[in-house]
Amino acid sequence: MKLKVGLDIHGVITDDPDKYRLLAETIIRGGGEIHILSGSAIPNLKKELEKYKIPFTHIFSITTHHEDLGAKVEWIKGLPYMADELWDPTKAEYCKKHGVHFMIDDSPIYEIFFDKEDTHYLKFGGKKTGGGG
Ligand SMILES: [Mg+2]
Repeated sequence: MKLKVGLDIHGVITDDPDKYRLLAETIIRGGGEIHILSGSAIPNLKKELEKYKIPFTHIFSITTHHEDLGAKVEWIKGLPYMADELWDPTKAEYCKKHGVHFMIDDSPIYEIFFDKEDTHYLKFGGKKTGGGG
């Protein structure tokens, strides 16, 4: 079985890029997958990952996903906003669909949507994040 780990960017990778780079490199070298799951649009996420030099095998944007499905996204000061009932369950749905074993995130908002039979949601830190998280 392939190990699949999901990583949030803001509040996780940004908190200690060196540590998460080491984690990502080690998992990928071992044949596992690193799934980056974040709020912002894909080009923004790629730029950030490049800046922090984080390797990954998969990348997913809540915003790009819902835009592709036709949702209305509002951009305020560079951060995307949409209805909470669309936004909040998205990471859990992705992890279930793709068989992600562990999701490391700093948001308490997403936790209730995760079923531990599918994905262990490992909440790092304790700050409540809004759009873009
Ligand atoms: Mg976050």
